[in-house]
Amino acid sequence: LRRAPPGVRRLASLPRALSTLTSSDIEHFLTFLPSNQVQASLSPGSTPQDELASYNTDWMGKYIGGSRCVLRPRTTEEVSRIVRHCYERGLGVVPQGGNTGLVGGGVPKGADEVVINLGLMNQIRGFNASSGVLTADAGCVLQTLNTFLTTKGHVMPLDLGAKGSCQIGGNVSTNAGGLRMVRYGSLHANVLGLEVVMPDGRVVHGLRGLRKDNTGYHLHHLFIGAEGTLGVVTGVSLLTPPLSPSVNLALLRLPDYASVLAVFGQLRSKLGEILSAVEYFDHTAWAVVNGDGEAGKEVERQVFGADDVPPGVNLIIETSGSVREHDEAKLSLLLEELLEGPHVLTGSLAQDETQLARMWELREGIAEACGKAGKVYKYDVSVPIQEWENVLETLRARAEEKSGGLIERVVGFGHIGDGNLHINVVCSRYDKQIEQLLEPFMFELVASKKGSISAEHGLGVQKAKYIHYSKTPLEIELMRTIKNAFDPKGIMNPGKVVLPVGAGVDN
Ligand code: FAD
Repeated sequence: LRRAPPGVRRLASLPRALSTLTSSDIEHFLTFLPSNQVQASLSPGSTPQDELASYNTDWMGKYIGGSRCVLRPRTTEEVSRIVRHCYERGLGVVPQGGNTGLVGGGVPKGADEVVINLGLMNQIRGFNASSGVLTADAGCVLQTLNTFLTTKGHVMPLDLGAKGSCQIGGNVSTNAGGLRMVRYGSLHANVLGLEVVMPDGRVVHGLRGLRKDNTGYHLHHLFIGAEGTLGVVTGVSLLTPPLSPSVNLALLRLPDYASVLAVFGQLRSKLGEILSAVEYFDHTAWAVVNGDGEAGKEVERQVFGADDVPPGVNLIIETSGSVREHDEAKLSLLLEELLEGPHVLTGSLAQDETQLARMWELREGIAEACGKAGKVYKYDVSVPIQEWENVLETLRARAEEKSGGLIERVVGFGHIGDGNLHINVVCSRYDKQIEQLLEPFMFELVASKKGSISAEHGLGVQKAKYIHYSKTPLEIELMRTIKNAFDPKGIMNPGKVVLPVGAGVDN
C-alpha cells in the first residue's frame, strides 16, 4: 500500500467481513477478460501498485485506497461476470467512473476490493431524433455525449465543471446537479431507464426510453444517486432537450449579498422561461481564480471593460431560447434596468463564443483553482438562499477565531438558481485538527437552517456517518432495508453512503 501523505485520510478498514482477494481471483478474471483489461498487483511481474495509484486516489488527493485489482470491462456481460464472481466470493466491488467525485465515493476503502472502472464502456448505443432519447454506455464521458448531441441539434440536460472527465454512469450514480438544473431539472426528471448489473451479477434491462411507464415501482430511480451501493450502472437512457439556437451570458458585479437576493428575484420574474443558469460566486472565489491584488484587477478590467471595478460579489446569468431577437431584447432591457438601480455595480454581456467560454471559466475554474491554492475541505449544501451569507460568515468567523491561520480562505460559490451553496475551505494541509474544527460544525449549522448536508455530491465516505443531520431515523432505516434487499452480502461499494448499524459514529 502507498503511504498516505500527512493529514490525508488513509481509508479505514471495511465495516463488514468481506473476503480477501487472492491470485486465484485474478486468474478467474483472466479467463474471460483480456489481460490489458486486468490490472492487478498480486503476483510477481504483475502491475506495480504505483500504476494503480490513479484508481486508488480521488480527484482532491484526499482519499487514498489500496485496491490491488482494477478491472476495465468493455461489455455489460463482462461486468456481470465480474460481479457474479465477487458475489460468490464475498469480495467488495467499487464501481468507478471518471473518478471526479468529491466525497471519496469512487475510491476503494481497503486492499481487497475490486475496482470496476467503466472507462472502456464508452459507446453511444443510439439516438432517437424525434424523441430526443439518447442511449449510451455508462462510461461515456459527459462532454463527448454533449459534443455528439450538438451535431444532432440537442444538448445534455446537465453540465458541470468536470464534464471532460466525468462519465454519465457516474453522473447518474451521484445524481449530479450542475449548471443547467435550474432549467432542465435533476436527473430524476431526465433519466428514462437504466441497465444495471445487480450485486449478484444479474442484469436489470431497463433501457426502455419511455416517457411514461407507471407499471409498478420506478426502480431506476433507486439507482440514481445510489453512489454505486446498489449495483453497477452499465447503460443509461435519457431525455435530451433541443439545443437552443440563442444562448446569452452576462456577468454582473454586485455590491453585496442583499443585492444578489434582490436581483435574483428580478431574473426569475423577468427572464422566466429563457433563464437557464444563475451562478453565484463571492469575491474570495474571484480572487482564488484570478489572483489577489493587481492580477485579479487586470481580469476585471478585461472582463468588465472598466478601470477600478469595485469589489463585491458576482452573478453569472445564462439565457437559452429559440428566438435570438426576443431573448436579447428581454435580457438587454433587464440589464439596463439593473445597471440604473442600486443593486448592480457593473456588468458585461458576452459578445461571442470566445467571451462566453471565458466567462464560464471564471465560474467553472473555482474548484480547480482552490485545489491549486491548497488542500480543500469541500461542503456542498442546500440551504435557503436567504441564509447563504449567514452560513459563510459564521464559518469565516470560526476559521478566523480558531484555526490559528491554518485555514487560509473560505470560498463561497454555488448554483443559486437551485439553492445549492458550495463552500471550499482552503488550508495549507489536510489536518485532523482542521477537520474537527469543521465537522460536525458545518453539518450542525446546515441542519439548524433545515438544509441538506449533501446537495449534489452525495455522501460517499466523507459524509456517510453524518447522514442523520439530514435524514430521520426512519428514513435511514428504510435506506438500510433497501440496501440489504438489493445487496444482502454488502459487497457493493462498502463503507459508503448507508453504513451497517454500529459501523458509523452516529448512524
Ligand atoms: P466517480 O467519481 O468515478 O464516482 C462517483 C460515485 O459514483 C462513486 O460512489 C462511484 O462508486 C459511483 N459510480 C461511478 N460510476 C458508476 C457506475 N457506472 N455505476 C454505479 N456507480 C458508479 N458534481 C455536481 O453534481 N455538480 C457540479 O457542478 C460538479 N462540479 C464539479 C466540478 C469539478 C471541477 C469536479 C472535480 C467535480 C464536480 N462535481 C460536480 C462532482 C463530480 O464531477 C460528479 O459527482 C460526477 O457526477 C462524478 O462522475 P464520475 O464519473 O467522475 O464518478
